[in-house]
Amino acid sequence: MNLHEYQAKQLLASYGIPVPEGGPAHSAEEARERAKALGGERWVVKAQVHAGGRGKAGGVKLVNSKDEAGTVAEALLGTRLVTRQTTAAGQPINTVLVEAAQDISRELYLSLLVDRAKARVAIIASAAGGMDIEEVAAKEPEKIVTVYINPAAGLQGYEIRRIGFALGLDGNQRKQLGKILQGFYKLFLEKDLSLLEINPMVVSGAGDLLCLDAKINIDDNALFRHTDLDALHDTSQENAKETQAKQWDLNYIALDGNIACMVNGAGLAMATMDLIKLHGGEPANFLDVGGTTNAEKVAEAFKIILSDEKVKAILVNIFGGIVRCDLIAEGIIKATKEIGVDRPVVVRLEGTNVERARELLDASGLELISAGSLTEAAEKVIGSIQ
Ligand code: GDP
Ligand code: MN
Repeated sequence: MNLHEYQAKQLLASYGIPVPEGGPAHSAEEARERAKALGGERWVVKAQVHAGGRGKAGGVKLVNSKDEAGTVAEALLGTRLVTRQTTAAGQPINTVLVEAAQDISRELYLSLLVDRAKARVAIIASAAGGMDIEEVAAKEPEKIVTVYINPAAGLQGYEIRRIGFALGLDGNQRKQLGKILQGFYKLFLEKDLSLLEINPMVVSGAGDLLCLDAKINIDDNALFRHTDLDALHDTSQENAKETQAKQWDLNYIALDGNIACMVNGAGLAMATMDLIKLHGGEPANFLDVGGTTNAEKVAEAFKIILSDEKVKAILVNIFGGIVRCDLIAEGIIKATKEIGVDRPVVVRLEGTNVERARELLDASGLELISAGSLTEAAEKVIGSIQ
């Protein structure tokens, strides 16, 4: 689960990590009031969306008066921000963050993430902050330093110094960095984060370190023990179909193509998408209905994929090992009776109770295209829309 920047900064501040002064606003008036309460002469108004690249997309604006803070907030709120990290539809801006503007002398990059191969938390640092770390990694990999923290020993002084020197910090700044990194590591472990990214971490005009931006991702599997963080969940930032699917415990990911798939098992779902692509089609989604499914869940899954207007045809590919084919058939029939199907449906069923499933589908009077093998299924579903 992602946090908004202002939520991430509040969390960082609660661990004693320096962030600019500021807070969220939901209207022009509130933004003006924020600026007034902060004092000073320059502020930044930042669109709060679950995506980076806001600066280049016009979602981060420096303003020189309280009224301008209001006007800029007004112009951003209620619109959608399209950045290179969003879809073409962009993300809705329901909140802006109003902060005291900072004098920046340098922009650095710092992040913590879980390195699965090394089974350790990694700290990634670079003096080339403010730009895409992927770009730095591709073009100037020597500008990136990575430290893998030994979980038994914790973050060590020599590791902090190594990062501090790589970032070109002076003695005082390295001291600040030590406190910040220890805070990051503590926060990362205590709150079960999977990513903490500060881009940029800045050296202010006065020479102090400060988190100018903050991105935090919390491990979904650990949210049950962080009810306070779970409450910050903002569904407006997610794909509506994915949110709906989550409520039904379905593994659904929206994609850009026009052939929907409903599959049991994540591996088979991936293989099905591969086959669709191999035969020249584009999948509209990833959907794993899971092993412990029932007719109701299948019906909901079917409704979710049918509600996608891009979808031109549907491929149902079920290998009934744990899940029974007749349950899937019942779900398909239930869903189509409730909402009707106006697009071709290719069904490939194999495994437990497949005979019973075929009988149910035949008796339903639904116009389904049946396929024996996976290849035949992929060919038929692509053929159905040509
Ligand atoms: P992102 O584009 O979504 O990553 O948003 P950031 O929060 O990283 O802001 C983008 C850029 O805006 C930063 O890299 C800074 O160059 C600039 N910026 C943000 N806040 C301030 C500020 O307080 N003062 C100045 N001078 N620039 C800022
Ligand atoms: Mn940033």
